[in-house]
Amino acid sequence: MSESLVIGADVGGTAVKYVVTDASYTPRVEGEIFCDPTDPGHTLDDLAGTIRSRLGAAWGDVETVGFACAGIVDPVAGRLGRAPNLPGWEGTDLAALAGAAFAGLPAVLANDVNAALMGEWRLGAGRGCRDLLMLALGTGVGGGIVVHGSLLVGGRCGAAELGHMILDREGPACGCGNRGCLEAYASASGLMAEARRRAAVPGADLDLVAFCSRTDADPRGLAALAVAGNAEAVDIYARAGTMLGLAVGNLVNALDPDRVIIGGGVAQAGDLLLATCRAEVPRVVLGERSKSVPIVLADLGPRAAALGAAVMALDEVAGG
Ligand SMILES: [Zn+2]
Repeated sequence: MSESLVIGADVGGTAVKYVVTDASYTPRVEGEIFCDPTDPGHTLDDLAGTIRSRLGAAWGDVETVGFACAGIVDPVAGRLGRAPNLPGWEGTDLAALAGAAFAGLPAVLANDVNAALMGEWRLGAGRGCRDLLMLALGTGVGGGIVVHGSLLVGGRCGAAELGHMILDREGPACGCGNRGCLEAYASASGLMAEARRRAAVPGADLDLVAFCSRTDADPRGLAALAVAGNAEAVDIYARAGTMLGLAVGNLVNALDPDRVIIGGGVAQAGDLLLATCRAEVPRVVLGERSKSVPIVLADLGPRAAALGAAVMALDEVAGG
């Protein structure tokens, strides 16, 4: 007996990660293709062709496709708004393009962090929660919120831009043009900017200076330096964790979630970041019982958004 299948795709600036699952979200096929950030039509054709050839006869069992995209997404109109990493995709009618590439299959569109949150909520670290918060710490910082069992999208699809919560007006510059946003502290770019700032100070730690002069210097390398005992690297992560905790504490006061999920590549630093985050949260949170809100690492890794897009697509089909 054939079983209905769903495709989930996570469209990023350099690659599209995809997963094809059955209705219980067991992956049948997964992989990634090159993403042309200037040409959505060509990329979607390539994606459909790749999946079609990998599925063979089972292609006929695919019922629906979910797309997660880095940018402001209007899921109702099926359009992608501001998307700095996908300039050629901005403003396009993705639902129509997907329909053309995927032989008229229904398509669902979501912001990538919302999709990752959806994946974690149903299949990963957020299972069983009714109120849930997620922060994804990558090149930037993205956020997602589940309130009373519903994903918060907002009146104009702009909710949960938690990376641009301003923590200090006098703080470091953020890519958005403001200063002191959470993203300026707890993203990969924020961590590396702080490392370089410290390395440029006269008398700076020589190991930190040597690290920052490497062309491949990144947060993973900074974490390795910290694990090796470098006090500056430890302190850079600890400071980022404290600012993350300040943001989480503010959000817990507003939303009182059952759990807080920290995901994204920067979160792989684990306790280097989370120890100070967890220490800061109860200093900010007012509700006595909310001070101990669990702050956990994401479960699904880099395929969270693709899986979450599949969940959203299948929900849409099931919902009518
Ligand atoms: Zn900002």
